[in-house]
Amino acid sequence: MRFNRPTLKTVIEKLTRQYGKPAKPLDHPFEIIVWENIAYLVDDERRSAAFNALAREVGLRPIDIFSASSSTLIKFTKMGGIHPELRNQRLRESAQIVIDQFDGDLRNALKLPLAKAIKALRQFPSIGEPGAEKILLFTRTAPILALDSNGLRVLLRLGFGEEQKNYTASYKSVREGIATELVNDFDFLISAHQLLRQHGKTLCKTNNPHCDECPLAIDCSYYNSRSF
Ligand code: SF4
Repeated sequence: MRFNRPTLKTVIEKLTRQYGKPAKPLDHPFEIIVWENIAYLVDDERRSAAFNALAREVGLRPIDIFSASSSTLIKFTKMGGIHPELRNQRLRESAQIVIDQFDGDLRNALKLPLAKAIKALRQFPSIGEPGAEKILLFTRTAPILALDSNGLRVLLRLGFGEEQKNYTASYKSVREGIATELVNDFDFLISAHQLLRQHGKTLCKTNNPHCDECPLAIDCSYYNSRSF
């Protein structure tokens, strides 16, 4: 059976009806890096609890984190799951990079030309190219549709791009697949990132996606290839 791939706009409209309008995300680049490194393999609620406790008791500026003792930081990284000592080191290293290279304020990195800004952000622990692009999007620096692994999986299954041998190539394929549909609209792109992630975590899971409950099923390549 032939099916027509939905537009990205339609996908986001349906996901907004399904999940509601997402909450405003963090928009400070260093705080996003702290968010990524404060926890590991935990849900957003637990990550948020560790992040908020750190913000309340230590602060979120690079100098706050750099000045705190390891035992203090580990108290919060422990709230964020396994390997708390490693994540203490990563937080400390992140703070040091900002202090040494960006005059204590990572927003200075966002003033660089795009390729240099991505390179600067990729120096930080746990920040690869998708993570750097997410920072550029959430800080409203560059209108890029950054995707996490959940969003990537959803768009691949819907037929935007094709699964390739490795993650980087699949990411590139999806980015090419959506290129003509992107608009210079930060609100839309940020919501798209958040909703695609939420859909990948809620219904379009890696194993056994809940296609029967999915508002996108009628136009989904993966679903239709399994059903007919
Ligand atoms: S129909 Fe299934 S595979 Fe397609 S987007 Fe929905 S949950 Fe994912």
